[in-house]
This record gives sequence, structure tokens and C-alpha cells, in this order.
Amino acid sequence: MAGNSNKIAIIDGDGIGPEIMTEAKKLIALFLPEYTLVNVDLGGKAIDKFDNPFPEESQEKLKDVDAVLMSAIGAPKYDNLPRDKRPETGLLALRKFLGAFANIRPAFVFDALVDLSTLKPEVVKGVDLVVVRELTGGIYFGEPSLNDGERALNTMVYTKPEVERIARVAFDAAMKRNKRLCSVDKSNVLNVSQLWRDVVIEVSKDYPEVELSYMYIDNAAMQLIRNPKQFDVVVTGNLFGDILSDESSMLTGSIGLLPSASVGGEIGLFEPVHGSAPDIAGQGLANPMAMILSLAMMLRFSLNKEKEADIIENAVKEVLNKGILTPDLGGKANTKEIGEAIFECCAKEFEKA
Ligand code: NAD
Repeated sequence: MAGNSNKIAIIDGDGIGPEIMTEAKKLIALFLPEYTLVNVDLGGKAIDKFDNPFPEESQEKLKDVDAVLMSAIGAPKYDNLPRDKRPETGLLALRKFLGAFANIRPAFVFDALVDLSTLKPEVVKGVDLVVVRELTGGIYFGEPSLNDGERALNTMVYTKPEVERIARVAFDAAMKRNKRLCSVDKSNVLNVSQLWRDVVIEVSKDYPEVELSYMYIDNAAMQLIRNPKQFDVVVTGNLFGDILSDESSMLTGSIGLLPSASVGGEIGLFEPVHGSAPDIAGQGLANPMAMILSLAMMLRFSLNKEKEADIIENAVKEVLNKGILTPDLGGKANTKEIGEAIFECCAKEFEKA
């Protein structure tokens, strides 16, 4: 697979996907003029063209790119297809293909939007945390796994190398932020969690600047809503991470703002947390901010362009502070107007930098 081909795969997806991707592409043209965009079909579009949600043709194209930027896939017209033909199956296959074992989900509350959260403003104002979830191991994949109608079981299993590599992703993320890492487990009960904790402690010796703490999952679930500001980076396994990352995204009150990254393989995948929102597709109502913030994550994590990522994140903040909002945030601006407002702020800052 590639490393510096100066190519980025673009999956513009279904539903609102193409609309929000159009806005992200304007910023790519600004910040990455030397890059070529490679359109890759996945999900609904791939089913329409190839009768396969992740066809060979798409896999071939991905072998020669530096990163993958995706909007979202899925639409009601595919809901009745057999499981292996559905858009979501294509996405799972893509993640597996890329070897992405670490899912990074930031959750931040913009000052201009504190009132959107269901929690009190004083609890959520200033929240800025990241959940790093192990994505390819743990109880979702452990064998044996069975259900014979009388008895069912799943196996929670982690190996030392699996824990070590996710811990390193989390420590690296903490180093780029406020240098605090909380490892979440259930080591008072589970053998798997005891190993998890031992390995995280071992890895911490390579990161003396990072302050490491631990929390049991039940307490972490409470602390996240009691006092979310105590967290900087949280690292945890697949099952606990699935729950905590959704819980943390709800602190913000809006799904249209949250980006994510799946990394660990040679090529990272960057995508909004939200889906393809078929209910508002084609109407210019979609908020492109999560898409644009996913691009910022791609710049930071895959292309080593920290400055450009900062410029985008600050531009989103500025536009929110000016009250230029899509309907999901209580405003009247359309997708294009938001994209253009962010572009203008970015262009001004980029020129100065
Ligand atoms: P969804 O995230 O698409 O939509 C949930 C609600 O949030 C809807 O009311 C929608 O209008 C709103 N919303 C979502 N993104 C928005 C945005 N950017 N701006 C404004 N409002 C936004 O979830 P869903 O309705 O459960 O799923 C719709 C389709 O998306 C399904 O086919 C599902 O399988 C697919 N999906 C894809 C992904 C992905 O591609 N990663 C993730 C989740 C769901």
C-alpha cells in the first residue's frame, strides 16, 4: 500500500454525502493543491454500479492513496437487500481492508452551542475530549461465539500486541493534546482487563510526559456525564469504546458536528460520525461541519499538516460564533453557505500563515 502517493481517495457516498463532500473538496483545493483526488465507489453507489458494496475496482484504487476521506453511505432503497449486499457491509469491509484498528472520536462542545446539549451549560462548556476505541478485537470478534437457542456465548479476548498498539495510538494522541490519558477497563472483574491495564502501564514508560490514570467502565460512564471536563484522551477496548464514544458524542447535542478517524493501518479513514441523512438529502439542509472537521483530522493524523488542521478547526469555531448555522443547529444557512463561510475564514488565515 501507498504512503506518499499524493493521492487521496474520496468516497462521496449516498444521501447528503455528495453535498457535504463538495464543501470539503473546496478546502482540499486550498490546502492540498498538490494532491490528486481519486473517486472511489462504496455503499449504495457501488451496489448500483457493480452489484457489490465494496467491489474489486474500489479495492484496487485504494492501494495507491495516502488517506481516505468518506462522507456517509446508505439509503432506504437498500434496506431490504441481503446482509452481504448492503451498504453497511461495504463499510465494515473497507475498515477491515485498511487494517484500521483504532477509532478516534473527538467530542467537543463549542461555546456558541452549549445550549444544544441536554446537560447543564456549566457541565458541558469547554468539553474537549477524545475517545480512542480498539476496533478490531475484543468481544465482537473473539472465538468461540455461538447461540444454539439454549445457550449463547461470546469471548472477550485481547493479546498483548493488540493492547500495546492501541495504547501507543492513544499515548500519541495525548502527546498532541493535553498529555493526559485515562485507560478504561474492568480489571477488578475481567482477566482481559487485567492484561489490558498491565500492558498500558508498560507502554506508559515510553511516554513519561503523559499523565496516565485508570477508571472502571461503570465509573467512566458516570463520570462522562457528571464531569466530562476531567477527560483529555480516553483509551478503551471495543465494547466499552462503542458505548463511551456514543455517550461522549451526545454531550455535544449535535451529530452534524462530530468527525472521526479510523487509523492504525497504512492508510487512515476519516469520516463524520453521522450517517447519510436521507430525510434531508438534496435540500441543502445538511451541516457540512462534521465532514470538514474530518478533513482536518486527516490533515493532522495522516498528512502531518497540523497548521492547516488548526486553521480549519478555528474557522469552524469562528463561523459558529458568528451564528452562521444550519437548521440542525437552529439556524437558516444552507450547506453551501456554511462551506463558503468556512472557506473564506480558512483562505484568510492560510494567506497570513
Ligand atoms: P443519520 O446520522 O443519517 O441521521 C440521523 C438524524 O440526524 C437525521 O434526522 C438526520 O437528518 C440528522 N443528520 C445527520 N447528519 C446530519 C448533518 N450532517 N446535518 C444535519 N442533520 C444531520 O442516521 P440514520 O437516519 O440512522 O441513518 C441513515 C442512513 O445512514 C442509513 O442508511 C444508515 O445505515 C446510514 N449510516 C451510515 C453511516 C456511515 O456511513 N458511517 C453511519 C450511520 C448511519
